[in-house]
Amino acid sequence: MKVCVIGTGYVGLVAGACFADSGNTVICVDIDKEKIEKLKKGIIPIYEPGLQEIVLKNVEKERLFFTTEIKEGVEKSDIIFIAVGTPEGEDGSADLSYVLQAARDIAKHMNGYKIIVNKSTVPVGTAEKVRKEVEKITNHPFDVVSNPEFLKEGAAVQDFLKPDRIVIGTNSEKARKIMVDLYSPFVRKKERIILMDNVSAELTKYAANSMLATRISFMNDLANLAEKVGADIEKVRIGIGTDSRIGLAFLFPGVGYGGSCFPKDVKAILKTGEEYGHKLSIIDAVERLNKEQRKIMVDRVTNFFKGDIKGKTFAIWGLSFKPNTDDMREAPAIDIIKGLVEKGAKIQAYDPVAMENAKKVFSRLGINEEITYCPKQYGALQDADALIVVTEWMEFRKPDFELIKKLMAGNTIFDGRNIYKPEQMKELGFNYFSIGRKPVI
Ligand code: NAD
Repeated sequence: MKVCVIGTGYVGLVAGACFADSGNTVICVDIDKEKIEKLKKGIIPIYEPGLQEIVLKNVEKERLFFTTEIKEGVEKSDIIFIAVGTPEGEDGSADLSYVLQAARDIAKHMNGYKIIVNKSTVPVGTAEKVRKEVEKITNHPFDVVSNPEFLKEGAAVQDFLKPDRIVIGTNSEKARKIMVDLYSPFVRKKERIILMDNVSAELTKYAANSMLATRISFMNDLANLAEKVGADIEKVRIGIGTDSRIGLAFLFPGVGYGGSCFPKDVKAILKTGEEYGHKLSIIDAVERLNKEQRKIMVDRVTNFFKGDIKGKTFAIWGLSFKPNTDDMREAPAIDIIKGLVEKGAKIQAYDPVAMENAKKVFSRLGINEEITYCPKQYGALQDADALIVVTEWMEFRKPDFELIKKLMAGNTIFDGRNIYKPEQMKELGFNYFSIGRKPVI
């Protein structure tokens, strides 16, 4: 099939490369000239395991092309995916300006029947908005399909190639058949493709992200209670997660959720509820709890140092919002570092892949001068008063604790992801604070 993908970010680039890998001809379009130039030279602008290989392979096989010319992409393709950003708007709703601009750009260059697919995460009613925008500009026939994406950053290629399910929302029989055919190489069982109408597909994406965010806030809430009553949240987690009705995934307490999706999608669905006069009380609480949880680490560190961290130095391990990605969007590390710096602390930070993106974020916040970016994990510890683990990268899980002790000025570890064992920390002589477990002092 001939496919065009508009937007070459985490979703668009992965989708484009994977569709090409199953034999389709794919043209990826982006307005960002620098990104397209890099991609043409074989440089992948984002970090995503396995992405470089699949992109290079399909470019070489002449199935995957990059351009800034949307005209070429639209004219040569039958199916056009919109995979542009839908950031949080000023009022918390999803900003649809990029999606609707892409829809208008498609409409201008249509030369026959096209399937326009909303791959971006968009609120209910967006398929209809896209249809209206396109109709204003062209008389060519088209269908709008809502096909939300469920991939996880850090495992995006694998998720796309082996999805739990694919949701296809449309009322057009013709478009439905073509979409099922396009996705058939990625599903071994047909029931993994779930067919529905546009609005249900749009709501499904927000429902999924809200449910996942709910599990996180639920666990954080319980973790805070566990600390007060002297329980161990890790034991409670396994105690409930082994119930097959609950399951163990997505039950980890921590420093609050972040990333490019949950924060904005939770706010956007709350806005949708408001617009339709329906208060989403549970999701509202999830959002509120998350905001509070993101403050917990700064409070904990400050309390330990008796309210004064001016002039103290903290080693930060992990900056990206989760492991295996360089994505810094809404990363908890931002709030934590900002909070510490505002109280007069200095930061020595290390992350395996997110430091370049982090520098841009902290430069915008005007606090880069207070942060030393350390190229090595142990380098960040030199003379630090404490270590704060923010992202649970694999390489932080079994560190050389004796070396940590030797390098740091202090002997305190704040573990925002519960990756170490309190008993072991006690034996090693650390002060150790985690989430939802008794502190070791
Ligand atoms: P991104 O910011 O990484 O990429 C978006 C790209 O679109 C950018 O390269 C931008 O230059 C380009 N773009 C914007 N307007 C354009 C236009 N008119 N024409 C061509 N290109 C244009 O975004 P992302 O993380 O890939 O997310 C895209 C969408 O997918 C969002 O709605 C997001 O919520 C959703 N989503 C993201 C993830 C994820 O893990 N990142 C997962 C599922 C769904």
